[in-house]
Order: sequence, then structure tokens, then C-alpha cells
Amino acid sequence: MDAKTPAPQARAPETGIFDAVVVGAGFAGMYMLHRLRGLGLSARVYEAGGGVGGTWYWNRYPGARCDVESMQYSFSFSEELDQEWTWSEKYSPQPEILAYANHIADRFGLRQDIVFDTRVTAATWDNRAKRWHIETDRGDKVSAKFCIMAVGCLSAPNRPKFPGIEDFEGPVYHTGEWPHGGVDFTGLRVGVIGTGSSAIQSIPIIAEQASHLTVFQRTATWSVPAWNETLTPDYVKAVKADYPALRAKARARPTGFYFPFNMKPALDAGEDERQQRYEEAWQRGGLPFLGAFGDLLFEKGANDTIASFARDKIRSIVKDPAIAELLCPDNVFGCKRLCVDTGYYATYNLPHVKLVDVSKKPIERITAGGIVVDGVEYPVDAIVSATGFAAMTGSFDKIAITGRDGLTLAEKWRAGPRAYLGLASAGFPNFFMITGPGSPSVLASMIQAIEQHVDWLADLIGHMRDIGSSAIEPTVADEDAWVEHVTEVSKVSLRSTCSSWYVGANIPGRPIVFMPYIGGFPIYVQKCNEVMSNGFEGFVMDCAAASNAPPRVRLTERWRVPLDIEVISPAAVAARRVPVV
Ligand code: FAD
Ligand code: NAP
Repeated sequence: MDAKTPAPQARAPETGIFDAVVVGAGFAGMYMLHRLRGLGLSARVYEAGGGVGGTWYWNRYPGARCDVESMQYSFSFSEELDQEWTWSEKYSPQPEILAYANHIADRFGLRQDIVFDTRVTAATWDNRAKRWHIETDRGDKVSAKFCIMAVGCLSAPNRPKFPGIEDFEGPVYHTGEWPHGGVDFTGLRVGVIGTGSSAIQSIPIIAEQASHLTVFQRTATWSVPAWNETLTPDYVKAVKADYPALRAKARARPTGFYFPFNMKPALDAGEDERQQRYEEAWQRGGLPFLGAFGDLLFEKGANDTIASFARDKIRSIVKDPAIAELLCPDNVFGCKRLCVDTGYYATYNLPHVKLVDVSKKPIERITAGGIVVDGVEYPVDAIVSATGFAAMTGSFDKIAITGRDGLTLAEKWRAGPRAYLGLASAGFPNFFMITGPGSPSVLASMIQAIEQHVDWLADLIGHMRDIGSSAIEPTVADEDAWVEHVTEVSKVSLRSTCSSWYVGANIPGRPIVFMPYIGGFPIYVQKCNEVMSNGFEGFVMDCAAASNAPPRVRLTERWRVPLDIEVISPAAVAARRVPVV
């Protein structure tokens, strides 16, 4: 890629026997390793990248930063860690988040058990030995009692096969695999394909460098200003003075992070009150904009009011009325993942920035020096593919995973992923997923979602050891009921109404299934807690000696928090109404 992207070091393939193999060394893989070690287990982590950090290792495009506030987009399991790490910005940039990931690896001494530049290619269950055999692209062949997938929800880049792409003579960069040394676009004609979060963050910065920037837009995107700022020492001190309280409030929220939320229905407010609230929320910025009223993602009439407000904002920023109209989305506000930007819409006021609509006439082909749409060639020297990911299941698809009786995960998930609580899948004993499909995952602040899954799994594995169990998997009946429940609850939300990556619709040919659990993080956590309290209800566990020993709640204790009833959403209500499976 570039001189600064390190080449993998040569090494001999390894063989070995471990208690657990973890795939991926992002936040999920690292925290899982930490907890496995706490149980005294041996673990090997394989990571395709050359370092830790996952998302923040790969996504080095200009402008990459978090959109959940940094003081909350961080681990909460260690109060010492909370105190010793200091974030510099409200939404910290990618290098700082990657530095945080590296700090975690060093502080908890994780690197010695992580093998980098190594992609797991196959995992096969041996039912006689009750072990997984795991293979990698570096020739490693190891076995483990547990195989834990920490492969990420947004880690398999989507590279559409545009006709002629191989003829292009310039570089093509994917935002999710950005060169380590950065890219200098100075004086170049750049084409950006896509207008999702990655594009929205990078476009204003690329526009500062490029001589011409052409953006190819398939779906116009809703975006709210970040109003990013440097965090003052006083603010940081105030949060740190009672960090556990903030963490507890976050855990009780449907999103897993805390922000002011007004439960009043939008249509119960008069027009003046609505405009005032939207204006205040716009001035606060970011994802909390959706907290202006309580029903915005549930009532179309309510959603129309916020959409209308946001369209007016776009029209007030973008000077050319025709471009402004092209930038105004016509889908439900917040249906696709809401974007958070710094100067995105205003970028289109620059004379060298052009917007090309590919919603009705898609990109026809790519030539040696341009991108052709509707018979017109737009000359470009470099292409930025901000085309997103095969979300939720894309990294699973790349591994040949074979469970009991030769069942492959690819076959089982052909019509859409099937997993109990997004944690495990019937037919795949001792195989676990962190933030898997059917869990809140991408609809929550993900580090919280990761921690809750890891803590729960660590308690499960600890229990199996306590009772001498060699294998566990969910029952088909319980898994089916959960998958059905996930689908049912999704229908309550307007989020199920558009062609988002939540449903796999961003990539042709993928099954259309609402993959994350939208019932809300605390409701989901309660369900996980109940399952554990009831002796891992919904799972079958084999055991040398029959044991009725109740599971010992260790790490999951901190997740036993009451739901913040002030913010119980219609989806959460529905999640409770549907019979508990
Ligand atoms: P990842 O960070 O994706 O790590 C998975 C790792 O597994 C990767 O390093 C990958 O290389 C490795 N892997 C995959 N397959 C294999 C294999 N076969 N063999 C070996 N290794 C493999 N979430 C938020 O909550 N807030 C945010 O502000 C936010 N911002 C984001 C910004 C961007 C640009 C993106 C893409 C995502 C963002 N997310 C955000 C979601 C983000 O993915 C999660 O917050 C979190 O970092 C996920 O951590 P993870 O460890 O589960 O997965
Ligand atoms: P994305 O949201 O899926 O956006 C991809 C863009 O590419 C969309 O505009 C999509 O159009 C377009 N596209 C895909 N295939 C195309 C094709 N064949 N022709 C033309 N356009 C095409 O991906 P992303 O921007 O990388 O973001 C993914 C997720 O990662 C986000 O939703 C968010 O969860 C996370 N993220 C967060 C941040 C942050 O602010 N912290 C930043 C980046 C990413 P369609 O909409 O029509 O499919």
C-alpha cells in the first residue's frame, strides 16, 4: 500500500493446544483475552491486521473519528483505566483511539498472546474430542475448546465490482483499509464513491487538498453537525470525579450511552415548541439530535417533522438550490445510521466540488482515467471507495466454519444469520460471537455492548469449568424463538423501512434481514441476565456429572442495572410484550 504500511514478518507456522482461540484483536478480542486470562485459561488471539485496534487500525482515512462521545466511547471495566486515560476531544480522532487501543494492549500485557498479520481461514468442530481445529493463512494449525469470534460488525470492506475498475490507472483506496502513511491528494482530481459516515467525515478534508472533487451519491444521507471541540481540563475533571455514575447511567439507556432524551412525542408538541427543541438539539449536535422527542424513530408523522427541519438546514447551508435538493434525503430520518459531520454540506459550496447523482443511473463503468455515469465521463486521478462493509456477517463469511455433523455456518446462515442472543448458534458447540447478529451491537455504543458480551461469556465459561462441562450450544427451539423475536421487534421501528446495511440491503444479493436487536440495550441485558440466572436457559450443556449448581454471577454483576424508565422506548415496550423466549 505505502512505505509506512508494515509488511508482515516471516514466521514459522505454529501448532498448539489452547483453552480458547479468539479471532480478532479489536476492542472485543482484547477484552475477551483479558477475561480469559483472568479465568486462568490459555488463549491465542489471531489478528489479520498488523496491530491491535480493529476498526481503528484499519480506518485511517482523513477525518476518521468516533461519533459517540469519547468519554463514553471507551472501556468501563477498570476505574483505574478511566482515571489514567485522558481524551483530548469530544469526538477523538482515529490516531488517539488507536493509541488508546495500544495502551490497553500494553497496560494489560496482552500482546504476548496475540499473533498479528494472520487471518483465520477455517474452524472445524471435532465432536469426539470436543474441540475446535483452527487454521490460518500462515499455515498455523491449532486446537481449542472454545472458538470465540471477535471479528467485528464492520470489518469486511464492501468493494463493488464496478465494470472496468481494473482498467483504472490511478490508485483506488477503500476507507476501511487506508494506507498507514496517509494519502496526499494535493492537486489531484479525486472521485469519492459513497456518502455514508466514512465519506461524510473524509469529504471535507479531501476537498481541502484536491484540485477537483467529484462525489458519487447513491442515497442522500442525513447528517448532524458534530460541533467537535477540545475537552477542557475542567470538563474532564468533572466527568472523572464521578465516572462510575456516568457509566451506570449509560448502561441503563437503550443506546448504551447517556445523553439528554426528551420522551415527549413530537406530535404532542406545538409547531413552535418542536422548532425550538430541534434547534436546541441541532446546536448540541451529534447522535443525541434524535433525542429531541421520544417517538422519532417510531411514528412516521413525528419523523416527518424532524426530517423537514433537517432538510431546511441543508437548504440553508447549501447555496445552489439544485445541489441542496439532491442532498436532501427522502427516506426516514435516522433510518440508515445517522451521520455526524464537520462541514459536510458546506463543502458543496466550494467551486471545485461536484455532486453526481447515481441513484437512478448507477456508475456505468470505470475507465483508465475516469468514472462514467449516464454516458458522461468524470475525469479522476484517484478514487476513494467509501462504500462501507458487508456488515454484521461479512467477516464470518470469509471463514470456513464447520460445526457438528458437518453443518457449515455459511449454509445455516444462507437466508440470514441465526443466533441465540447473538452469542451462539445451534449446531456450533463452544462457538461464541461477540456482538453477533441478534444482539444490540451496532445499535448500541459498541464498547459497552462488547464488554457486556465478554463479561457474560466469561461467566458462562467459568460456570462450565465449575461443573466440568465439555460442550454447550443453544437449542434450535430457543434460537428460533429469539430470531423471530428480533425480527418482530424490528418491525416496531421505522429503522426497518429502508435499504440500510442493518438489513444487508447495501450489497446486492445479501438476504434482507434486520440483523441487530433493536429492543434496547438494557432490555437485552436483562434477558441475558435471566438466561444466566435460570441456569443458562435455552442452552444444552453436556457434563460429566449431572450438576444443578446455579451459575456464579461474577463479572456480569455490574450489568444488573435497572432500566431507566424515563427513556423506555416503544421498541423496549414491544420487546417486553413479546413473550419472553
Ligand atoms: P473490530 O474493531 O472490527 O475488530 C475486528 C478485528 O477482527 C479486525 O481487526 C479484523 O482484522 C479482525 N478479523 C476479522 N476477521 C478475521 C479473521 N478471519 N482472522 C483474523 N482476524 C480477523 N461504534 C461506536 O459505538 N461508536 C463510534 O463512534 C464508532 N465509530 C466507528 C467508526 C468507523 C469508521 C467504523 C468503521 C466503525 C465505528 N464504530 C463505532 C463501530 C466499531 O466497529 C466498534 O465500535 C468497535 O471498534 C468494534 O470492535 P470489535 O473488536 O468488535 O471489531
Ligand atoms: P455506509 O454507511 O454503508 O456507506 C457506504 C456508502 O457507499 C453509501 O452511501 C452507499 O450508498 C454507497 N455505495 C455502496 N455501494 C455503492 C455502489 N455500488 N454505487 C454507489 N454507491 C455505493 O459505510 P460507511 O460510511 O463506511 O459507514 C459504515 C458504518 O460504520 C456507519 O454506518 C457507522 O456505523 C460506522 N462509521 C462510523 C463513523 C463515525 O462517525 N464514528 C464513521 C464511519 C463509519 P447506499 O446508501 O445507497 O447503500
